[in-house]
Amino acid sequence: MRGFDKCPVCGGEIATKDVEKIVRGGAHTAAVHVRADVCLHCGERLYTPEQVRRFEDLRRKLQRRETQGLKHVGEFFEVA
Ligand SMILES: [Zn+2]
Repeated sequence: MRGFDKCPVCGGEIATKDVEKIVRGGAHTAAVHVRADVCLHCGERLYTPEQVRRFEDLRRKLQRRETQGLKHVGEFFEVA
């Protein structure tokens, strides 16, 4: 179903895992839980074009502060 059976970065073995993708737009951050192919050797995550589009869409929404439909789970802090 996916285009890769080996990692395109290091040639390592790939496994499908549930991962948390952090998307940041402007000052806002959202965590998206997705199923992605992850390299067991270097940790590279291979997202589908649909998933990448979804992340970009979410990033734009965060930049515009369109956060309706997103669940508020906590504040985001940054330490210099
Ligand atoms: Zn790899």
